[in-house]
Amino acid sequence: MAHEVGASTSYLDPKLAKQYLSEYKTSDGLSAEELMDLRVNGGLTYNDFLILPGHIDFSASEVCCESRITRNIVLKTPFMSSPMDTVTETDMAINMALLGGVGVIHHNCSADEQAEMVRKVKKFENGFIPDPVCLTPTHTVADVHRIKAQFGYSGIPITANGKLYSLLLGIVTARDIQFHEDHTTLLRDVMTTDLVVAHEGVTLEEANQILRSSKRGKLPIVNSRGELVSLLARSDLLKNLNFPLASKSLHSNQLLCAAAIGTHSDDRVRLQKLVDAGLDIVVLDSSQGDSIYQIEMIKYIKKNYGDRLDIIAGNVVTREQAASLIEAGADALRVGMGSGSICITQEVMAVGRPQGTAVYKVSEFAQKFNIPVIADGGIQNVGHITKALALGASAVMMGGLLAGTAESPGDYFYHDGQRLKRYRGMGSIDAMERICNVRDAPDNAGIKRYFSESDAIKVAQGVAGAVIDKGSIRKFVPYLISGLQHGMQDIGIKNLTQLKENVKSGKVRFELRTAAAQVEGGVHGLYS
Ligand code: GDP
Ligand code: 5GP
Repeated sequence: MAHEVGASTSYLDPKLAKQYLSEYKTSDGLSAEELMDLRVNGGLTYNDFLILPGHIDFSASEVCCESRITRNIVLKTPFMSSPMDTVTETDMAINMALLGGVGVIHHNCSADEQAEMVRKVKKFENGFIPDPVCLTPTHTVADVHRIKAQFGYSGIPITANGKLYSLLLGIVTARDIQFHEDHTTLLRDVMTTDLVVAHEGVTLEEANQILRSSKRGKLPIVNSRGELVSLLARSDLLKNLNFPLASKSLHSNQLLCAAAIGTHSDDRVRLQKLVDAGLDIVVLDSSQGDSIYQIEMIKYIKKNYGDRLDIIAGNVVTREQAASLIEAGADALRVGMGSGSICITQEVMAVGRPQGTAVYKVSEFAQKFNIPVIADGGIQNVGHITKALALGASAVMMGGLLAGTAESPGDYFYHDGQRLKRYRGMGSIDAMERICNVRDAPDNAGIKRYFSESDAIKVAQGVAGAVIDKGSIRKFVPYLISGLQHGMQDIGIKNLTQLKENVKSGKVRFELRTAAAQVEGGVHGLYS
């Protein structure tokens, strides 16, 4: 018989709803341990599950994303950029650090080139242009027009040899050449030599004050020998925002910098150059990290550099691999094998592990030794970041998500009306040929990471392609931070330590997602 609306039934007292929850034997959903039960669910990746919502009694902006990413290093945002030659060079590393993360400079280049990139990150000071384009007095007006067309600026310092750290002789600005019709005129005949300069060590605030009072457009910064060390532009005065989240070295005010190396004997020479340049974190870049070479390298670094340098070892995906590297002295583990967006390892080598399971299994083990885990590869959206952290990672490493930004290496190009940038796996034929054809193979990171140098036939483990222009990471990373904060708020968690504790205790709940549920969770049913 149908109930009449409002008729009394045997319903429970609504006031006791929460109390009644205790009548259920378990909470709704699954604990992480139950979710990751291999016998029941097999290997899972980020799209295979969801986190169930919790109770919210705080705003998203209160969520703290601070995280310890190695034994000694804490970041305000748990983001790292991959050591790939289409992702992290100087510009990416500087901006990742300014925004609270850290960039790992790739090693698909000579040791000197890599060390120079590290040096630039360490020397970077917010607001100062660390590497201004310079010319010599014997360049011509045409050269300035060419730079203006290519880069958009025409304020060019003139130095003795046309490079930084060379005697500053003058400056050419738009006004010097505006009405100059003869493009063959030498710059020495048009440059301004009556210069207002500031000296190395000047603070941004002091330098800005000099710019304001001098009413000039550019302020060259020189050292005691009169050599140019950087440049300040009036047009940046208003843009010189503070970066409250910036990742700084423990003992200096310099930005944090990480770089990748291989595990061959010549990498020891490379490492010394990187350390001389000020490196803070070294990433041992192997696709299968549990090797005698990596263990020896970890021991060598610990012996020779002690606690000056934190080591991120890897990559690993199992507890057993993790145990080898933790015992050798790793300060953090990088987790992922074949999960990257440009990876074909799992198909080609038949080896790897779904990333969700890999992150959970290794983190659960490494946590016992207080060793943080970095979830590397397969992060396609901000939700994947929240999931990786919920599975125990202390940070995520992103390649594809950060490729195609203004700070990633390479030029934009157009294809089918889309603005694109190249993105390629370090084990792709494309990347491996970068240096092989030009210089010597030992400098090639792809070969070191994915092959033995003596392999006569190279089997690619990655592909090359292009990704869409994503704008600047100065906007994209804050979006990721905000997305993570909102995700954590939905789970009812205020910080990453609490997230780890509540996942471990089973308070944070998960649920498997069927193929149909995944379709339901994506955009569907729209006409356009
Ligand atoms: P200019 O007067 O034609 O040099 O251009 P603006 O000063 O108006 O703008 C130059 C912009 O480019 C500023 O935001 C600078 O920070 C930036 N910039 C980046 N690299 C360089 C460089 O090597 N030289 C100069 N002049 N500007 C640079
Ligand atoms: P993504 O963020 O694009 O999904 O993955 C980036 C990660 O993929 C890198 O940090 C690195 O661990 C891994 N990776 C980079 N190049 C290659 C490659 O050529 N092959 C494989 N298997 N993995 C790669």
